[in-house]
Amino acid sequence: MIPTATAATPHCRLCRQPLAIADAISIGPFPKAAQYYPEPDEFAADQGVVLQIAECPGCGLTQLMNEPVDYYKQVITAASLSPVVREQRLALFKQLRKEFTEQPRAMEIGCASGENLPLLREVGYVASGIEFSPPRTEALAMPDGVANRYLLDLGSEEYDQYDLLISFNYLEHQPDARAFLQKCHALLTDDGKLLLTVPNLDFLLTSQSAHEFVADHLVYFTADSLETALRLTGFSLIDIQIINNQYDIQIIAQKRGVGAIASSKSALDTLVARFNETLRNFTDRGQKVAVWGAGHRTLALLSLSEYHRIECIIDSAKFKHHKFAPISHLRILPPETLLTPGCNIDVVLVMVPGIYPKEVIATINALPVHYHAEQFPPDA
Ligand SMILES: [Zn+2]
Repeated sequence: MIPTATAATPHCRLCRQPLAIADAISIGPFPKAAQYYPEPDEFAADQGVVLQIAECPGCGLTQLMNEPVDYYKQVITAASLSPVVREQRLALFKQLRKEFTEQPRAMEIGCASGENLPLLREVGYVASGIEFSPPRTEALAMPDGVANRYLLDLGSEEYDQYDLLISFNYLEHQPDARAFLQKCHALLTDDGKLLLTVPNLDFLLTSQSAHEFVADHLVYFTADSLETALRLTGFSLIDIQIINNQYDIQIIAQKRGVGAIASSKSALDTLVARFNETLRNFTDRGQKVAVWGAGHRTLALLSLSEYHRIECIIDSAKFKHHKFAPISHLRILPPETLLTPGCNIDVVLVMVPGIYPKEVIATINALPVHYHAEQFPPDA
Protein backbone atom coordinates (compact mmCIF):
# COMPACT_ATOMS: atom_id res chain seq x y z
CA MET A 1 0.00 0.00 0.00
CA ILE A 2 1.22 3.49 -0.81
CA PRO A 3 1.46 5.72 2.28
CA THR A 4 -0.63 8.86 1.99
CA ALA A 5 0.31 10.60 5.25
CA THR A 6 -3.27 11.74 5.81
CA ALA A 7 -2.92 12.97 9.38
CA ALA A 8 0.35 14.77 8.75
CA THR A 9 -0.57 18.45 8.58
CA PRO A 10 -3.99 19.43 9.73
CA HIS A 11 -3.09 23.14 9.81
CA CYS A 12 -1.54 25.55 7.35
CA ARG A 13 2.23 25.74 7.71
CA LEU A 14 1.98 29.52 7.61
CA CYS A 15 -1.33 30.93 8.88
CA ARG A 16 -2.39 27.88 10.95
CA GLN A 17 -5.81 27.65 9.33
CA PRO A 18 -7.11 24.05 9.35
CA LEU A 19 -6.58 22.23 6.05
CA ALA A 20 -8.88 19.48 4.83
CA ILE A 21 -7.26 16.47 3.23
CA ALA A 22 -10.36 16.21 1.03
CA ASP A 23 -9.42 19.53 -0.59
CA ALA A 24 -5.87 18.40 -1.38
CA ILE A 25 -4.76 17.25 -4.82
CA SER A 26 -3.06 13.85 -4.74
CA ILE A 27 -0.22 13.03 -7.10
CA GLY A 28 1.95 9.98 -7.00
CA PRO A 29 3.51 7.68 -6.39
CA PHE A 30 6.52 9.99 -6.34
CA PRO A 31 9.96 9.10 -5.00
CA LYS A 32 9.64 9.24 -1.23
CA ALA A 33 12.56 11.65 -0.95
CA ALA A 34 14.93 13.42 -3.31
CA GLN A 35 17.88 11.84 -1.52
CA TYR A 36 16.65 8.26 -1.56
CA TYR A 37 18.32 5.60 -3.67
CA PRO A 38 17.00 2.20 -2.67
CA GLU A 39 19.21 -0.83 -2.29
CA PRO A 40 17.96 -4.08 -3.83
CA ASP A 41 16.78 -5.32 -0.44
CA GLU A 42 14.56 -2.21 -0.15
CA PHE A 43 12.87 -2.59 -3.54
CA ALA A 44 9.83 -4.44 -2.19
CA ALA A 45 9.14 -1.72 0.38
CA ASP A 46 9.84 1.14 -2.00
CA GLN A 47 6.34 2.09 -3.07
CA GLY A 48 7.01 5.84 -3.12
CA VAL A 49 4.70 8.43 -1.66
CA VAL A 50 1.51 10.15 -2.75
CA LEU A 51 1.95 13.89 -2.38
CA GLN A 52 -1.06 15.65 -0.89
CA ILE A 53 -0.88 19.19 -2.22
CA ALA A 54 -3.16 21.75 -0.61
CA GLU A 55 -3.72 25.44 -1.16
CA CYS A 56 -4.55 27.11 2.14
CA PRO A 57 -8.03 28.69 1.93
CA GLY A 58 -6.81 31.39 4.32
CA CYS A 59 -3.40 32.68 3.22
CA GLY A 60 -3.23 30.93 -0.16
CA LEU A 61 0.03 29.12 0.49
CA THR A 62 0.53 25.95 -1.52
CA GLN A 63 1.95 23.19 0.64
CA LEU A 64 2.36 19.47 1.07
CA MET A 65 0.32 17.90 3.82
CA ASN A 66 2.84 15.03 3.97
CA GLU A 67 5.36 14.51 6.74
CA PRO A 68 8.79 16.04 6.09
CA VAL A 69 11.62 13.84 4.87
CA ASP A 70 13.80 12.77 7.79
CA TYR A 71 16.76 14.98 6.77
CA TYR A 72 14.79 18.25 6.30
CA LYS A 73 17.04 20.20 8.68
CA GLN A 74 20.10 19.51 6.56
CA VAL A 75 21.21 21.17 3.38
CA ILE A 76 22.32 18.39 1.09
CA THR A 77 23.58 19.71 -2.16
CA ALA A 78 26.07 18.55 -4.71
CA ALA A 79 26.29 22.01 -6.19
CA SER A 80 29.18 24.26 -5.29
CA LEU A 81 29.19 27.94 -6.15
CA SER A 82 29.64 28.49 -9.86
CA PRO A 83 31.73 31.54 -10.83
CA VAL A 84 28.55 33.29 -12.04
CA VAL A 85 26.62 32.68 -8.82
CA ARG A 86 29.69 33.64 -6.81
CA GLU A 87 29.89 37.03 -8.57
CA GLN A 88 26.13 37.62 -8.22
CA ARG A 89 26.19 36.89 -4.50
CA LEU A 90 29.28 38.97 -3.93
CA ALA A 91 27.60 41.93 -5.63
CA LEU A 92 24.44 41.41 -3.59
CA PHE A 93 26.29 41.16 -0.27
CA LYS A 94 28.26 44.27 -1.20
CA GLN A 95 25.11 46.21 -2.03
CA LEU A 96 23.50 45.20 1.28
CA ARG A 97 26.70 46.06 3.15
CA LYS A 98 26.07 49.73 2.29
CA GLU A 99 22.98 49.66 4.55
CA PHE A 100 25.16 49.40 7.62
CA THR A 101 27.67 51.84 9.04
CA GLU A 102 29.25 49.66 11.73
CA GLN A 103 30.75 46.31 10.77
CA PRO A 104 27.60 44.19 10.39
CA ARG A 105 27.08 40.63 11.59
CA ALA A 106 25.73 38.22 9.01
CA MET A 107 24.56 34.66 9.41
CA GLU A 108 23.61 32.10 6.79
CA ILE A 109 20.82 29.72 7.74
CA GLY A 110 21.39 26.29 6.22
CA CYS A 111 24.88 27.14 5.04
CA ALA A 112 26.03 23.60 4.04
CA SER A 113 29.82 23.76 4.04
CA GLY A 114 29.86 27.53 4.45
CA GLU A 115 30.87 28.54 0.93
CA ASN A 116 29.17 31.92 1.16
CA LEU A 117 30.93 32.95 4.35
CA PRO A 118 34.24 33.98 2.71
CA LEU A 119 32.25 36.16 0.28
CA LEU A 120 30.48 37.89 3.16
CA ARG A 121 33.81 38.45 4.90
CA GLU A 122 35.35 39.80 1.70
CA VAL A 123 32.87 42.68 1.66
CA GLY A 124 33.15 43.45 5.35
CA TYR A 125 30.77 41.31 7.37
CA VAL A 126 31.51 39.31 10.47
CA ALA A 127 30.07 36.11 9.03
CA SER A 128 28.89 32.85 10.50
CA GLY A 129 26.58 30.06 9.45
CA ILE A 130 24.46 27.32 10.90
CA GLU A 131 24.09 23.88 9.42
CA PHE A 132 22.46 20.94 11.11
CA SER A 133 24.29 17.65 11.23
CA PRO A 134 22.70 14.62 12.80
CA PRO A 135 24.52 13.06 15.78
CA ARG A 136 26.23 10.35 13.73
CA THR A 137 28.24 12.95 11.83
CA GLU A 138 28.80 15.23 14.78
CA ALA A 139 32.34 14.00 15.22
CA LEU A 140 33.24 15.62 11.89
CA ALA A 141 34.82 19.04 12.22
CA MET A 142 32.53 21.84 11.06
CA PRO A 143 33.99 24.32 8.56
CA ASP A 144 35.29 27.65 9.85
CA GLY A 145 32.48 29.82 11.21
CA VAL A 146 29.85 27.11 10.81
CA ALA A 147 27.98 25.90 13.89
CA ASN A 148 26.09 22.63 14.06
CA ARG A 149 22.74 24.18 14.96
CA TYR A 150 19.20 24.10 13.66
CA LEU A 151 17.49 27.49 13.29
CA LEU A 152 14.52 26.75 15.53
CA ASP A 153 16.83 25.59 18.32
CA LEU A 154 18.57 28.97 18.59
CA GLY A 155 17.74 30.60 21.91
CA SER A 156 17.04 34.13 23.05
CA GLU A 157 20.77 34.81 23.58
CA GLU A 158 20.95 35.03 19.77
CA TYR A 159 18.04 37.48 19.44
CA ASP A 160 18.63 40.97 18.02
CA GLN A 161 22.19 39.95 17.11
CA TYR A 162 22.25 39.85 13.31
CA ASP A 163 22.23 42.66 10.76
CA LEU A 164 21.86 40.31 7.84
CA LEU A 165 20.37 36.83 7.62
CA ILE A 166 20.69 34.93 4.38
CA SER A 167 19.16 31.64 3.38
CA PHE A 168 19.20 30.09 -0.07
CA ASN A 169 16.53 27.56 -1.01
CA TYR A 170 16.14 26.17 2.50
CA LEU A 171 12.81 27.57 3.75
CA GLU A 172 10.83 25.37 1.34
CA HIS A 173 12.16 22.26 3.15
CA GLN A 174 10.89 23.39 6.55
CA PRO A 175 7.66 22.01 8.03
CA ASP A 176 6.85 25.24 9.85
CA ALA A 177 7.27 28.25 7.58
CA ARG A 178 5.77 30.57 10.17
CA ALA A 179 8.15 29.52 12.94
CA PHE A 180 11.10 29.81 10.52
CA LEU A 181 10.31 33.39 9.55
CA GLN A 182 9.39 34.40 13.09
CA LYS A 183 12.74 33.09 14.31
CA CYS A 184 14.50 35.11 11.61
CA HIS A 185 12.56 38.15 12.79
CA ALA A 186 13.70 37.58 16.37
CA LEU A 187 17.36 37.11 15.39
CA LEU A 188 17.56 40.35 13.39
CA THR A 189 18.41 43.76 14.77
CA ASP A 190 15.74 46.44 14.25
CA ASP A 191 17.42 47.60 11.03
CA GLY A 192 18.43 44.09 10.00
CA LYS A 193 17.78 42.64 6.56
CA LEU A 194 16.66 39.22 5.43
CA LEU A 195 17.84 37.85 2.08
CA LEU A 196 16.00 34.73 1.08
CA THR A 197 15.51 32.62 -2.01
CA VAL A 198 12.92 29.89 -2.60
CA PRO A 199 11.75 28.04 -5.72
CA ASN A 200 9.14 29.89 -7.76
CA LEU A 201 5.76 28.11 -7.78
CA ASP A 202 4.48 30.37 -10.56
CA PHE A 203 7.14 28.95 -12.85
CA LEU A 204 6.30 25.38 -11.85
CA LEU A 205 2.65 26.07 -12.72
CA THR A 206 3.11 28.06 -15.93
CA SER A 207 5.64 25.57 -17.27
CA GLN A 208 3.22 22.72 -16.47
CA SER A 209 5.91 21.03 -14.39
CA ALA A 210 3.95 19.25 -11.68
CA HIS A 211 6.76 16.71 -11.57
CA GLU A 212 8.75 19.52 -9.89
CA PHE A 213 6.77 18.81 -6.74
CA VAL A 214 9.02 16.82 -4.46
CA ALA A 215 8.57 15.22 -1.06
CA ASP A 216 11.46 17.35 0.27
CA HIS A 217 9.72 20.67 -0.44
CA LEU A 218 6.85 21.25 1.95
CA VAL A 219 5.93 24.83 1.01
CA TYR A 220 5.68 26.33 -2.49
CA PHE A 221 5.74 30.09 -2.78
CA THR A 222 4.61 32.45 -5.48
CA ALA A 223 5.82 36.04 -5.31
CA ASP A 224 2.41 36.87 -3.80
CA SER A 225 2.33 34.16 -1.17
CA LEU A 226 5.93 34.86 -0.17
CA GLU A 227 5.04 38.48 0.41
CA THR A 228 2.02 37.33 2.45
CA ALA A 229 4.29 35.06 4.50
CA LEU A 230 6.64 37.93 5.22
CA ARG A 231 3.77 40.25 6.14
CA LEU A 232 2.25 37.66 8.50
CA THR A 233 5.56 37.29 10.32
CA GLY A 234 6.36 40.96 10.87
CA PHE A 235 8.43 41.80 7.80
CA SER A 236 8.00 44.30 5.04
CA LEU A 237 9.33 43.62 1.59
CA ILE A 238 12.13 45.81 0.24
CA ASP A 239 12.84 44.01 -3.01
CA ILE A 240 11.58 40.96 -4.87
CA GLN A 241 13.05 39.45 -8.01
CA ILE A 242 12.48 36.37 -10.07
CA ILE A 243 15.92 34.86 -10.69
CA ASN A 244 17.69 31.82 -12.14
CA ASN A 245 15.64 31.70 -15.38
CA GLN A 246 12.42 32.06 -13.35
CA TYR A 247 13.14 29.02 -11.19
CA ASP A 248 13.58 31.00 -7.97
CA ILE A 249 12.25 34.02 -6.12
CA GLN A 250 14.69 36.24 -4.26
CA ILE A 251 13.52 38.70 -1.64
CA ILE A 252 15.09 41.26 0.62
CA ALA A 253 12.93 42.15 3.60
CA GLN A 254 13.25 44.05 6.82
CA LYS A 255 11.39 44.15 10.10
CA ARG A 256 8.24 46.18 9.72
CA GLY A 257 8.47 49.46 11.58
CA VAL A 258 6.02 50.07 14.38
CA GLY A 259 5.92 53.80 13.63
CA ALA A 260 2.59 54.32 11.85
CA ILE A 261 0.37 54.59 14.92
CA ALA A 262 3.04 56.41 16.88
CA SER A 263 3.35 59.02 14.14
CA SER A 264 -0.43 59.37 13.97
CA LYS A 265 -0.48 59.98 17.75
CA SER A 266 2.21 62.61 17.44
CA ALA A 267 0.25 64.35 14.65
CA LEU A 268 -2.77 64.41 16.99
CA ASP A 269 -0.65 65.93 19.78
CA THR A 270 0.42 68.66 17.35
CA LEU A 271 -3.20 69.31 16.32
CA VAL A 272 -4.29 69.62 19.97
CA ALA A 273 -1.42 72.05 20.63
CA ARG A 274 -2.46 74.17 17.63
CA PHE A 275 -6.07 74.15 18.79
CA ASN A 276 -5.13 75.25 22.31
CA GLU A 277 -3.00 78.03 20.86
CA THR A 278 -5.94 79.21 18.73
CA LEU A 279 -8.22 79.17 21.77
CA ARG A 280 -5.69 81.11 23.86
CA ASN A 281 -5.28 83.73 21.14
CA PHE A 282 -8.94 84.62 21.53
CA THR A 283 -9.62 84.02 25.21
CA ASP A 284 -6.47 85.84 26.35
CA ARG A 285 -7.94 88.93 24.69
CA GLY A 286 -11.20 88.40 26.52
CA GLN A 287 -13.12 87.00 23.57
CA LYS A 288 -15.70 84.27 24.09
CA VAL A 289 -15.34 81.25 21.83
CA ALA A 290 -17.94 78.78 20.60
CA VAL A 291 -17.15 75.71 18.51
CA TRP A 292 -19.43 74.79 15.61
CA GLY A 293 -19.60 71.05 15.18
CA ALA A 294 -20.46 68.14 17.45
CA GLY A 295 -19.24 65.30 15.25
CA HIS A 296 -17.22 62.53 16.85
CA ARG A 297 -13.87 63.88 15.68
CA THR A 298 -14.56 67.35 17.04
CA LEU A 299 -15.81 65.96 20.35
CA ALA A 300 -12.64 63.84 20.65
CA LEU A 301 -10.42 66.82 19.92
CA LEU A 302 -12.31 68.99 22.42
CA SER A 303 -11.91 66.32 25.08
CA LEU A 304 -8.11 66.55 24.67
CA SER A 305 -8.02 70.34 24.59
CA GLU A 306 -8.25 73.24 27.04
CA TYR A 307 -12.03 73.11 26.74
CA HIS A 308 -12.55 75.40 29.73
CA ARG A 309 -11.74 78.18 27.23
CA ILE A 310 -14.87 77.31 25.22
CA GLU A 311 -18.37 78.64 25.99
CA CYS A 312 -20.52 76.16 24.11
CA ILE A 313 -20.86 73.98 21.03
CA ILE A 314 -23.18 74.89 18.14
CA ASP A 315 -24.52 72.15 15.90
CA SER A 316 -27.34 71.94 13.39
CA ALA A 317 -28.38 68.34 14.27
CA LYS A 318 -31.61 68.69 16.22
CA PHE A 319 -31.15 65.44 18.17
CA LYS A 320 -27.96 66.81 19.75
CA HIS A 321 -29.49 70.09 20.93
CA HIS A 322 -29.31 70.82 24.67
CA LYS A 323 -27.25 67.71 25.29
CA PHE A 324 -23.78 67.81 26.82
CA ALA A 325 -20.52 66.86 25.13
CA PRO A 326 -18.65 64.02 26.81
CA ILE A 327 -15.69 64.93 29.01
CA SER A 328 -15.83 68.70 28.34
CA HIS A 329 -19.53 68.75 29.38
CA LEU A 330 -20.03 71.73 27.11
CA ARG A 331 -23.63 72.33 26.14
CA ILE A 332 -24.62 71.68 22.51
CA LEU A 333 -26.89 74.48 21.27
CA PRO A 334 -28.81 75.10 18.03
CA PRO A 335 -27.52 77.62 15.44
CA GLU A 336 -30.42 79.95 16.36
CA THR A 337 -28.52 80.71 19.56
CA LEU A 338 -26.38 83.04 17.44
CA LEU A 339 -29.44 85.11 16.50
CA THR A 340 -29.59 86.49 20.03
CA PRO A 341 -27.46 89.61 20.45
CA GLY A 342 -25.49 89.37 23.68
CA CYS A 343 -25.42 85.56 23.61
CA ASN A 344 -21.98 85.75 25.12
CA ILE A 345 -20.13 84.59 21.98
CA ASP A 346 -17.60 86.61 19.96
CA VAL A 347 -15.83 83.95 17.96
CA VAL A 348 -17.09 80.78 16.26
CA LEU A 349 -14.48 78.14 15.40
CA VAL A 350 -15.96 75.99 12.68
CA MET A 351 -14.90 72.35 13.11
CA VAL A 352 -16.95 70.36 10.66
CA PRO A 353 -15.53 67.96 8.06
CA GLY A 354 -15.29 68.02 4.29
CA ILE A 355 -16.86 70.79 2.23
CA TYR A 356 -19.05 72.15 5.03
CA PRO A 357 -16.79 74.70 6.77
CA LYS A 358 -17.14 77.30 4.01
CA GLU A 359 -20.91 76.86 3.97
CA VAL A 360 -21.14 77.28 7.75
CA ILE A 361 -18.88 80.33 7.73
CA ALA A 362 -21.05 81.90 5.00
CA THR A 363 -24.15 81.21 7.11
CA ILE A 364 -22.57 82.85 10.17
CA ASN A 365 -21.40 85.86 8.18
CA ALA A 366 -24.93 86.36 6.85
CA LEU A 367 -26.39 86.61 10.38
CA PRO A 368 -27.68 89.99 11.58
CA VAL A 369 -25.38 89.72 14.62
CA HIS A 370 -21.65 89.92 13.87
CA TYR A 371 -19.26 87.13 14.87
CA HIS A 372 -15.71 86.34 13.92
CA ALA A 373 -15.93 82.91 12.24
CA GLU A 374 -12.99 80.80 11.15
CA GLN A 375 -12.27 77.22 10.27
CA PHE A 376 -10.19 74.94 12.48
CA PRO A 377 -7.85 73.45 11.51
CA PRO A 378 -7.48 76.21 8.92
CA ASP A 379 -5.88 73.85 6.37
CA ALA A 380 -8.34 70.96 6.78
ZN1 LIG B 1 -2.57 29.53 5.43
